[in-house]
Amino acid sequence: MRVTRLLGLLAVGGLAYVGIAWWTWRTEMETGYSAPQPAIPQSAQGFSDKANRIRSLHEKKRPNQPGDWLDRFPEGGQTFAQYIQSRHEEPLRDSYSSIDIQPLGEFDETQLQIVKKTQEFMECFFGVPVRLLQSRALGEIPSHACRTRNEVEQVLTTWILDDILKPDRSEDAMAVIGLVTCDLWPGDLNWVFGSASLHERVGVWSLHRNGDPRASDEAFRLCLRRTLKTAVHETGHMLGIPHCAAYECCMNGSRSREECDRQPLEFCPECQPKIWWSCRADPVKRCQQLLDFAEREGLKPEADFWRRELKILSNGIVSRK
Ligand SMILES: [Zn+2]
Ligand SMILES: [Zn+2]
Repeated sequence: MRVTRLLGLLAVGGLAYVGIAWWTWRTEMETGYSAPQPAIPQSAQGFSDKANRIRSLHEKKRPNQPGDWLDRFPEGGQTFAQYIQSRHEEPLRDSYSSIDIQPLGEFDETQLQIVKKTQEFMECFFGVPVRLLQSRALGEIPSHACRTRNEVEQVLTTWILDDILKPDRSEDAMAVIGLVTCDLWPGDLNWVFGSASLHERVGVWSLHRNGDPRASDEAFRLCLRRTLKTAVHETGHMLGIPHCAAYECCMNGSRSREECDRQPLEFCPECQPKIWWSCRADPVKRCQQLLDFAEREGLKPEADFWRRELKILSNGIVSRK
């Protein structure tokens, strides 16, 4: 009798072990993360299921090349479940109603077109109204906030974030993004494409290193694609999303123009549901709008990708507007 009960207990224990091992293996296979994951709340389960369906379309993070961001700054990344936990299960869209873009300083006609298209794209990407604020001059820059490096004028990002954007930040803005054409440096690195504060809802990025959009149609598209990448990357930080380490993803850190150009414009299956959930964006509508934008602007690889993603997200039923 006692032996039977012992065997029974061993069998139950064994089954439980197999169950846990299978769950851990499955989580690792699906997310690339081995740490125990917080449970996904019931309200976000639908997003988690949709994210699992698009997983096969996204490429796992390739091995680092010497000098890449993760080679220099090893970061662990963050799963969708960890993000929800970090936001105390409160989507940002419930507290804020828009994302604001604040052009700062001089822009020529072509650069203004890039700004306008960036606004349009961000509205599709985050599913939140994006307000383009009246341009502002940078005014008198204090001596500690400007410098010349390799004969290029640079402005200090922390000065723009703390002294220009924060004082005028609107209460209902999920994020305020300063847009400049001058080069930027953050104090501890030589230069940056952009910089954002995860907690203060302010960020700034520059068109300076994105190429000359006036040179040709191809150069315009390249400058647009680069600007869009920085825009959604920095705004992602402002939504509390850290760098991604699991997939080839627009939330990957980058240390060079070349590393940034290698990364896709879209977020991966761990980062994309963070937007769906936090901005209360409809995944199918979002994907359809991104596809329309990419087709309109001649962003061919992106259009091809979103066409495939849309097919999966909408269960093969693709409705054209
Ligand atoms: Zn970043
Ligand atoms: Zn990602």
